[in-house]
Amino acid sequence: MHGTSTQPSASTSGAHSGTAPDEFVVGGPARASRRYDVAVVGGGITGCATAYHLACAGASVVLAERGEVGTEASGRNAGSLHGQIQREPFERFGPGWARDFLPALRFLLDALEMWGRLDEELGTDLEVRTKGGLLLADDPAQMQLIEEKVRVEQEAGLDAQVLSRADVMALAPYVSERVVGAEYSPVEGKANPMLATPAFARAAARAGAEIRARCALVDLEMKGQAARLTFAASEGGRTETQVLEAERVVLASGDALAYQVRSLEPGLALPISSEPVQVAATEPVQPFIEHLLYYAGQRLTLKQAKAGTVLVGGGWPARLERGTGYPLVRLDSMRANLAVALGVVPRLGSALVLRSWAGIGNGTPDHRPVLGVLRRAPRVVVGLFPHMGFTAGPLMGRVLADLAVERQPELDLAPFSPERFATS
Ligand SMILES: Cc1cc2nc3c(=O)[nH]c(=O)nc-3n(C[C@H](O)[C@H](O)[C@H](O)COP(=O)(O)OP(=O)(O)OC[C@H]3O[C@@H](n4cnc5c(N)ncnc54)[C@H](O)[C@@H]3O)c2cc1C
Repeated sequence: MHGTSTQPSASTSGAHSGTAPDEFVVGGPARASRRYDVAVVGGGITGCATAYHLACAGASVVLAERGEVGTEASGRNAGSLHGQIQREPFERFGPGWARDFLPALRFLLDALEMWGRLDEELGTDLEVRTKGGLLLADDPAQMQLIEEKVRVEQEAGLDAQVLSRADVMALAPYVSERVVGAEYSPVEGKANPMLATPAFARAAARAGAEIRARCALVDLEMKGQAARLTFAASEGGRTETQVLEAERVVLASGDALAYQVRSLEPGLALPISSEPVQVAATEPVQPFIEHLLYYAGQRLTLKQAKAGTVLVGGGWPARLERGTGYPLVRLDSMRANLAVALGVVPRLGSALVLRSWAGIGNGTPDHRPVLGVLRRAPRVVVGLFPHMGFTAGPLMGRVLADLAVERQPELDLAPFSPERFATS
């Protein structure tokens, strides 16, 4: 496997080619008089799914995105639909952490069920396939870790299985001869991130939501029964200030959440981490990889998209451009990531790598989402699912919409409360 292009600019536009930002309302005259039931801040999968559910519930809703819809993490991710405890934190923090993480895992599993119905619901083929995920091992120590992890997952009633070498070879004959066994998680799969967020945004707009791109929240103030939001809206090289009011606000703005809540609840310091990470994609090759693959010895996610391209990722570090903070691809990371991929699927050796891109991944220290109403500003709802927020996106949207219209979500949100990070 060898690369032809690693230019971040070219690759980044490639990563976004599925979005069509111009179809969404941009800027426009100041609408200080407009008052909405709910204003959603952030046009990633979380915000767009929230706007969709709100509009379907009959709320008047405006969504503001500072850039283009679906072009940050939600448009740059690797499209894995995760449904197992991730190997790396399990190895680092152990079974005690994993048991505390189980509510977040159940959240992902519920979200996975929603993914199965989304094509029909949103009227777009999102290329969702759930043939299962394989965490592959090539030495006995890795198998020991897998067995321990599967024990925790099975105790919680999850469908996770330990496979022998023979089982793996029967299920996925394309993996390396070196593989000695695996964990199999039948619910996992993949979807196309370039399609999903715009599809939510379009469906939200069809249901009556106003979607405003290039509209950055710069101030949020609570005024009695409403919130007053000030935006910097850009159009045609001009930027103007727009102000609107909303009865409720949903902040689905990624790591910007941390500073946005600070003025509303000074004692709440959300410890959201931001790391630049990258993905590489090969040229289209004959379909032969059915599963979402991970490797138990190193960071890796690997899958073949509907178009035949093979996406290789797993959280390898990218870098930030000095001055702009823009995430850029690191060649050393790409080489190392591809070497791990080749060790797992040797047949990829003849595939050209066509592009690579980087994005910012967000985390929380306990890997659980931040999801709930702010105690000191109860008209404001916040939502961020760390590391696997693409998988979680459809359910994040439904739960945030429920909270914004004061409908009790079916889930126990206590483990996800933002208040667990309150210092006063
Ligand atoms: C390279 C990479 C690979 C990944 N792979 C996977 C994967 O395979 N599977 C998986 O489940 N997850 C994956 N993730 C994680 C996943 O992409 C994210 O968790 C998810 O997209 C988060 O969605 P979001 O809508 O919450 O945030 P985002 O997509 O980051 O959206 C937040 C939006 O808020 C906007 N915003 C911020 N501040 C303001 C403001 N002041 N005013 C207006 N708008 C604002 C931003 O511009 C942004 O568009 C990956 C992430 C990266 C970076």
